[in-house]
Amino acid sequence: MKLVFLGPPGAGKGTQAARICEKLSIPHISTGDMLRSAIAKGTPTGLKAKAFVESGGLVPDEVLVEMVRERLSNADCANGYLLDGFPRTVHQAEALNVICAPDTVIDVEVRDEKLLKRLTGRRVCRQCQNTFHISQLENDKVCPDCGGELYQRKDDSPETISNRLSVYHSQTAPLIDFYTAMGTLKTVDGDDEPDKVTSAILNALGC
Ligand code: ADP
Ligand code: ZN
Repeated sequence: MKLVFLGPPGAGKGTQAARICEKLSIPHISTGDMLRSAIAKGTPTGLKAKAFVESGGLVPDEVLVEMVRERLSNADCANGYLLDGFPRTVHQAEALNVICAPDTVIDVEVRDEKLLKRLTGRRVCRQCQNTFHISQLENDKVCPDCGGELYQRKDDSPETISNRLSVYHSQTAPLIDFYTAMGTLKTVDGDDEPDKVTSAILNALGC
């Protein structure tokens, strides 16, 4: 199965993607995670991406398209993939159609007010990359899943979040029409408990 998760920052794409990938045995490809790791390691891609990621803007299309093209050529993608965070522009979506078009696109919808609350309270594990909301944590420094150190992403500051939301509305939301026209879009309400959202996604996938 070749899947794309669409939806605004903070919609819960990462959390849901991890669950769906485990269930379907396909690789979870998060371009945000790949970029953060490239930045931390100081690779050439990381150096190109750093300023864009930290300001909440989009990294140039050609950088992302090359990164995804390479990743999708790995053997673990032979049975499909789940892309989380890509495509984010119509140009990226057109490029993906040429590389290996998705068969289903899941749009996880959540209102902006809710997104702001989720993102400002988000903490990420340095070790397992899982994300949590401070309201779920007894200790906001330690990962309840693996004991790793939790941190707040630099781009989860209020100013950067509002930039990311406006970038989403202007650049990424047009993909809803793009994939509707291709006949591959399915919309899921992301403003619900995580387990219910997972069931809704599996249901939309016919699994
Ligand atoms: P979120 O979905 O919470 O905004 P991600 O982890 O998916 O965060 O992405 C973080 C940042 O990485 C984005 O704000 C952007 O700067 C960069 N990025 C990730 N994917 C893409 C992409 N497909 N195109 C351009 N930039 C990207
Ligand atoms: Zn962890």
